[in-house]
Amino acid sequence: MKQSLLFVPTLKDAPKDAEVKSHKLMSRAGIIKQTAAGIYSYLPLGWRVLDKIETIVRQEHDKRDCSEMLMPAVQPRDLWEESGRWGEYGPELFRLKDRKDRDFCLGPTHEEVITQVVRDYINTYKKLPLALYQIQTKFRDELRPRFALMRGREFIMKDLYTFHTDDEDLDVWYDKIKEAYTTIFKRVGLETKIVSSDTGQIGGKEADEFMVMSEVGEDIIAYCDTCQYGSNQEFSKLEAGDTCPKCSSGKIKLAKGIEVGNIFKLGTKYSTSMHALYTDQKGQQKPVVMGCYGLGVSRTLMAAVEQHSTDNGILWPEEITPFRIHILPLDPKDAQINDLSYEIYERLSKNNEVLIDDRDERAGVKFKDADLIGVPYRIVIGKRMEPGYVELINRYTNEKNVIRHSDIEQYL
Ligand code: ATP
Ligand code: MG
Repeated sequence: MKQSLLFVPTLKDAPKDAEVKSHKLMSRAGIIKQTAAGIYSYLPLGWRVLDKIETIVRQEHDKRDCSEMLMPAVQPRDLWEESGRWGEYGPELFRLKDRKDRDFCLGPTHEEVITQVVRDYINTYKKLPLALYQIQTKFRDELRPRFALMRGREFIMKDLYTFHTDDEDLDVWYDKIKEAYTTIFKRVGLETKIVSSDTGQIGGKEADEFMVMSEVGEDIIAYCDTCQYGSNQEFSKLEAGDTCPKCSSGKIKLAKGIEVGNIFKLGTKYSTSMHALYTDQKGQQKPVVMGCYGLGVSRTLMAAVEQHSTDNGILWPEEITPFRIHILPLDPKDAQINDLSYEIYERLSKNNEVLIDDRDERAGVKFKDADLIGVPYRIVIGKRMEPGYVELINRYTNEKNVIRHSDIEQYL
């Protein structure tokens, strides 16, 4: 891709309201652009990364026999009356009326819709278990939209719903999805800690959150210095220095975390209120047992930037980088340099995602933007090098080598 055509509107200064590093960088690197409070456009560079995150999410779900689908964002009040949440949800729910004065909401989550979609179908134990997911825009009129994609009013979530005959089967799937989440975050470049949490608005009997430890996190995690125990402090009310409730020997420590995922054993909350029943082997009618699993796709993007950056720029993790290689021709008006740059560009593009900075800009501008944008492998071509030679930089290790251009593939 030619940088002159990609639309990467880099900025010298971050917007005034950008408090955290990732917000500043994502604005300055031309990744996102604010439209209204908590509502953002994903610009081409950001969209490429989101697409990669979504691909990883899809692969790890499809591998575990979950099927992708897409549900509507606009949801009728009747369904929310059935579950009882029209009254319960409060001002975070975006509510609207159609031209005939009927009430609707913009989906903050999809338990009601999915239960209505499958309830007639899953009438027998023979059709269970079932696991359905979507990647979709969600709407929540947050009281304090903050830190750009971290707490948006419109954001992208992957939500999965599973359906079972009994708690034992739910437990098996719950553990399987828990493992999928850990793998997804690892591939995205994020280490997560699993902590138990309250079930909140969604309901159910047990829930776990996936936390990225970070100073900019809005949650406080209570964790044990000895065993694996962790909980959201809002839920466990543990204090620093308390004895661990799990191993009874370790001490509790507190740290801030970003919640990137939340999984719930819903049980029969929605199937009972919305009459999603199945007939078991003995011919008895029972409510279907459900699980639901949310992963904040756009928040994950922001967390990845927060964790993989300095004040001067981003360094994308290998699996989600928008491009793998960034070619910087420093004197593009020099025919020899120009020809060599394009030859390398064409050659590497066959097997890699390559960005070439073809803009008529000074070297300083190109380097600054490249540092900001954060592509991990950089090839610099300039007049100061011997003809046919290029500088190859591995930004993960900071290793720099001046090599013959025909040796690039070998080094990569
Ligand atoms: P929070 O406690 O941060 O408000 P939540 O517990 O209400 O989040 P869930 O309903 O569990 O969120 O949603 C699943 C996932 O969606 C969260 O783990 C988070 O990653 C993401 N998410 C939730 N709200 C937002 C938001 N306003 N902006 C961006 N991502 C969000
Ligand atoms: Mg949550």
